[in-house]
Amino acid sequence: MNVYDAQRMADLLAPEGYADTAQVEDADLVVLNTCHIRERAAEKIFSELGKLRALKAARAKAGRDTRIIVAGCVAQAEGGEIFRRQKAVDIVVGPQSYHRLPELLRRAETERGLVETDFPAEDKFDFLVAPTPQQIRKRGVSAFVTVQEGCDKFCSFCVVPYTRGAESSRPVGDILAEVAVLAAAGVREVTLLGQNVNAYHGADGAGGSASLAELCARIAEAPGIARVRYTTSHPGDMTADLIAAHRDQASLMPFLHLPVQSGSDRILAAMNRKHKSADYVDLVAEIRQARSDIALSSDFIVGFPGESEQDFEATLDLIERIGFASAFSFKYSPRPGTPGADLKDQVEESVKSARLSRLQALLERQRQAFNRGMVGRTVDVLFEKPGRHAGQIAGKSPYLQAVQVDGETDRIGEILPVQIVAAGANSLFGRLTPGHAARGAPI
Ligand code: SAH
Ligand code: SF4
Repeated sequence: MNVYDAQRMADLLAPEGYADTAQVEDADLVVLNTCHIRERAAEKIFSELGKLRALKAARAKAGRDTRIIVAGCVAQAEGGEIFRRQKAVDIVVGPQSYHRLPELLRRAETERGLVETDFPAEDKFDFLVAPTPQQIRKRGVSAFVTVQEGCDKFCSFCVVPYTRGAESSRPVGDILAEVAVLAAAGVREVTLLGQNVNAYHGADGAGGSASLAELCARIAEAPGIARVRYTTSHPGDMTADLIAAHRDQASLMPFLHLPVQSGSDRILAAMNRKHKSADYVDLVAEIRQARSDIALSSDFIVGFPGESEQDFEATLDLIERIGFASAFSFKYSPRPGTPGADLKDQVEESVKSARLSRLQALLERQRQAFNRGMVGRTVDVLFEKPGRHAGQIAGKSPYLQAVQVDGETDRIGEILPVQIVAAGANSLFGRLTPGHAARGAPI
């Protein structure tokens, strides 16, 4: 979602005369779009700001102004405190108020220390600016669209409900309008974003509300859109109609990121997750019944306060039972203001590290096995960009695996069948099936 927000900020600033630069030394304006989910992410901002302060001073000597903005969830959580730690910052703006950036930049001509971290009454989406077709093409054929934001679940480890605010869904019509602009510029795949995306219930324009499954079906009707994905889902909101959509909607890709966090019921209860390990197993069985080839992914936290060796083993057991195609895993990071941070029995860092290594080794084995299982199969690949070497192009399988083939860059944007011949550490390698290898070539 931070990638999406950063793109929308760039869209908003383009009419103000700003354009992207690849060299930070050339930037008149630097926006750090920040993440507060774990301590390390938040701390990185301050080391980055130290470097930017030196850059700002060097540019000032050459008579050039530099504005530094801290946006995103660190901005939301720390507010004016950021100026205390780093005076070179000009503006602090939270994730729900970045539509005010043009106005803030104008005010910054005369005012110092501007902070905008209210959850405003107006909806930022009503004030954003559509990207130009050139900008969309530069970003590629696969695009993100935020459809839902915020969260009311209050898992005891998580800052999201405090930084992104209460859960809200964008109206269907607004989303379809945004997708139409993307599709007209060549986008073929849309990934719908939300902290809790399967809780989506946007106004349908007829006095009712649409579910995520209904939204996915409407989006797939946009000319040119061939693939729809969504992330991130909560197990508690995996409704029957969404599961059925994985069976019935061909454009809905067979990949599901469904974080479980832990396999121990005791820890899940302490995390306020409101699902048990067995609920997750049952849910996955139901999803696989609807779409047997679905690739599953999850997030895991190790070392939540009070996690015993036995609790950790329960997580490993759950992973063995499910079999994941990919996953993200983290050491628990106490976040200020969340209930988890005040719990006694915080787990020692060395124990967290050892558990994370074991967990990641298991997940990596499963990922490699999943990828090796593709060898010999033919899958549809959406080509997105030039490959690693000249004469190659790269794209994604339906299961979100990176795939490289020999091919011309004018195939970017096409979805073509690829026979997988090998599985590398991070990519699959394949060849275009004979009928597609070269335009006009005899089959
Ligand atoms: N809404 C999603 C996840 C949002 S945050 C869900 O409900 O699962 C993304 C991931 O960051 C989480 O799934 C969790 O695994 C991780 N995370 C969140 N807070 C964390 C913390 N305090 N320490 C370590 N990992 C955390
Ligand atoms: Fe955070 Fe996800 Fe839990 Fe919401 S559901 S509090 S975003 S982990």
